[in-house]
Amino acid sequence: MSPVLFPAHPRDLLHGHLTQPPACSAPRWPLYFSAMSDGFEVVVVGAGPAGCAAAYTLAKAGIEVLLVERSKFAGGKNVTGGVLYGSVLNELIPEFWKEAPVERRIQRHVISMLSEKSSVSVDFNTDDSGHPETAGYTVLRAKFDRWFSQKAEEAGAMVITGSRADDLIMEDGQVAGIVAGGDNIAAKVVIAADGVNSLLADKAGLGTSLAPDNVNQGVKEVIKMPRETIEERFNVTADGGAAMHFLGFCTRGVHGGGFLYTNQDSLSLGVVVQLKALIDNKLKSVELLESFKEHPTLRELVKGGTPVEYSAHLIPTGGLRMVPQLYTDGMLVAGDAAALVLATGRALEGINFALASGIAAAETVKIAREKGDFSQRTLSQYVKLISDSFVLQDLVRFFGAPQFLENPRIYGLYPELACSLAERVFEVDGNPKSTVWQLAREEMKGRVSLWQIMRDAMAARKTL
Ligand SMILES: Cc1cc2nc3c(=O)[nH]c(=O)nc-3n(C[C@H](O)[C@H](O)[C@H](O)COP(=O)(O)OP(=O)(O)OC[C@H]3O[C@@H](n4cnc5c(N)ncnc54)[C@H](O)[C@@H]3O)c2cc1C
Repeated sequence: MSPVLFPAHPRDLLHGHLTQPPACSAPRWPLYFSAMSDGFEVVVVGAGPAGCAAAYTLAKAGIEVLLVERSKFAGGKNVTGGVLYGSVLNELIPEFWKEAPVERRIQRHVISMLSEKSSVSVDFNTDDSGHPETAGYTVLRAKFDRWFSQKAEEAGAMVITGSRADDLIMEDGQVAGIVAGGDNIAAKVVIAADGVNSLLADKAGLGTSLAPDNVNQGVKEVIKMPRETIEERFNVTADGGAAMHFLGFCTRGVHGGGFLYTNQDSLSLGVVVQLKALIDNKLKSVELLESFKEHPTLRELVKGGTPVEYSAHLIPTGGLRMVPQLYTDGMLVAGDAAALVLATGRALEGINFALASGIAAAETVKIAREKGDFSQRTLSQYVKLISDSFVLQDLVRFFGAPQFLENPRIYGLYPELACSLAERVFEVDGNPKSTVWQLAREEMKGRVSLWQIMRDAMAARKTL
């Protein structure tokens, strides 16, 4: 029988490069381990989407699992825009939207380019109520993560909140548990789902480098608003919602964008900006958010609302280049902790990547448990599982997106151009009219060549 081949590192997938599994280290743990005597079979750190999905999957399979969360309750400090794309969760918890605290099903997608005073939008409105499993849902993480961690608990996981994992227990070079709140908690395997800037991944030598050009800072405000006002103002049905994305003036023309999502009786409004762009341009996300709210288009949408919550968080947006090795002896890394986020400019997808990688980590643990081997030889199956799913396939396909998104014209010149052209197109001043093409050439003059626009369009076609 020919040996099974594994990608040693996710980046190897780019070149279709597969290697032999790492040298076998002897299994350290007996096949069936008693939580009562020695610790837990599995410790999952972080009760965000990745950690809850892993703990839920393991508990459902009857495996002893401890889920450790540093906040007082799951979701207490978590930030997402946020739209949850439902298909992965639906596989785990069929028809989840009937019981999960989702806010609204997205029926309207709007992409707008902003200049200082005006905006040009593409507005896609659909009745996709026939496909609730593939729809996007707005969520508020404080409610959503709490529900999800309770689902894991109901399935049999032990959930401890208000306890931070500070260190790893190492035995013979293998991860053998965590130190949390001064206690040593032994485990056959640890799943680090502790989000961006993962302490545990760093400790295990699996950390990803968070350079200012591969991290975005997101700031978000939740604005309370009566549900009838939301439905009227955003032209959505009682359970329908709008997801609006903005480019241009919302970030003062630097690398990033703005978003506005409708919840049941609130709006989630925010900006997400590359850290390097903030530093280079001496900008502050908080100030950008304030001026975004004052934009004529936004002002009317948030009018009368009451800000009730404010939060900020980092997002790893470097794509596949940033993804570290995902496993070592006794440990797997999932979700933002492993930089498994897709940021193509078309959408920001982190939650479903976290869910899918959390599930894959749990499935890997099941395999390791059957073999009684928690060394990296068996845990390397994790890469195989996520490379069979959209997680690594999307990161490979959109490998060039972060580089493409470095183009400053996307955030400055093109939104300006779109708005000034629209102004000319819709202007009726009593003079003979020019064709749209003539107007476009006039607007481009001295700002950008047709050749440059074509080159940017070609780059967009390739990477997006
Ligand atoms: C402003 C903003 C908007 C976004 N919008 C979207 C969107 O619309 N759609 C989308 O799909 N994604 C969006 N994302 C990305 C998405 O939020 C993340 O990709 C996703 O939350 C990752 O899930 P996770 O479980 O890996 O990590 P997290 O959600 O960060 O969860 C990690 C958990 O670990 C806990 N933790 C951390 N360290 C420790 C420790 N040492 N001990 C114990 N617990 C610990 C944390 O408290 C947290 O609960 C957005 C992000 C931001 C910041």
